[in-house]
Amino acid sequence: MIDPFGRAITYLRVSVTDRCDFRCTYCMAEDMQFLPKAELLTLEELERLCGAFIRHGVRKLRLTGGEPLVRRDVMTLIERLGARLGPVQSGSLDELTLTTNGSQLARHAQGLARAGVRRINVSIDTLDVEKFAAITRGGKLPVVLEGVAAAKDAGIAVKINTVALRGVNEDEFDGMVEWCGVNGLDLCLIETMPMGDVGADRGDAYLPLSLVRARLARRWTLRETDYVTGGPARYVDVAETGRRLGFITPLTHNFCEGCNRVRVTCTGTLYMCLGQDDAADLRAPLRAGSTDEALDVAIAEAIARKPKGHDFVIDRRGAAPAVARHMSVTGG
Ligand code: SAM
Ligand code: SF4
Repeated sequence: MIDPFGRAITYLRVSVTDRCDFRCTYCMAEDMQFLPKAELLTLEELERLCGAFIRHGVRKLRLTGGEPLVRRDVMTLIERLGARLGPVQSGSLDELTLTTNGSQLARHAQGLARAGVRRINVSIDTLDVEKFAAITRGGKLPVVLEGVAAAKDAGIAVKINTVALRGVNEDEFDGMVEWCGVNGLDLCLIETMPMGDVGADRGDAYLPLSLVRARLARRWTLRETDYVTGGPARYVDVAETGRRLGFITPLTHNFCEGCNRVRVTCTGTLYMCLGQDDAADLRAPLRAGSTDEALDVAIAEAIARKPKGHDFVIDRRGAAPAVARHMSVTGG
């Protein structure tokens, strides 16, 4: 799949549910309305959909949400997708991974490793138990940390995702770099993106990572690297810890030119760009018949419409978000 700007689409992110056991303040409103279950693709449909993308050249699949590990029987899907991992030449999948809040990780870590998952991202915005409960509106940090330890024990490499929030966790980044160093984890800092109405003045929480990086550079030796994962992060090595530190800066930096990915929601809506509203319905063609003919056509038409880039702009007055859907719909 090559889009109109010559970018090969090799990376699919799949949101397997819009539900979550947390309500992070920057991601969801406290009283989120979730989709009726009938609107969701079944696990079998999700597998078929992923299969079609793999056939069309997708090499890397990331499951996300909502919280992927709260979807009932999701391990069955993960095992089936894991069975499609294989050597590059065979047209199968290179990598199966997921982004999780870690709340269910302790009990699934071994199963994930058995299914062929080698790397995961775990979102942790603070190492302070009370602040963690406040940001996630009820999440338990010790449970998440147990999950991280279980994943490591199972041989899965863990990267911590941390959203940089002004006045909330901005005093913690030195501590997090250190903690990740001690525990053998990579760290990736993310700027807040204006997605979905979360009932707060998001403009206020926006903290440019250029500033965070300059502050970190006072304590740590940050060495430029050309390491790439196929995701949007730019990485440096932290000389003192030997770990990687990534920055995802959708607002201060244009990360679109090398974009190789598309996203599909749990209802089968394909978004060609995280920061644009244009979308293609894949559920109807998926349900149109027992063959994938209609689905293949719909995917090809959608890729031909992938836009050049996003239009995120933070409205300092905290007005309407640039994109109406929440991150938990498209999965980040
Ligand atoms: N529930 C899982 C988790 O939290 O890792 C997966 C889904 S979550 C939507 C994926 C990532 O998006 C998380 O790292 C989260 O911190 C990030 N995220 C959510 N809303 C965001 C926003 N408005 N701006 C930037 N990142 C956001
Ligand atoms: Fe849930 Fe992840 Fe959104 Fe937090 S960021 S509310 S854990 S989906």
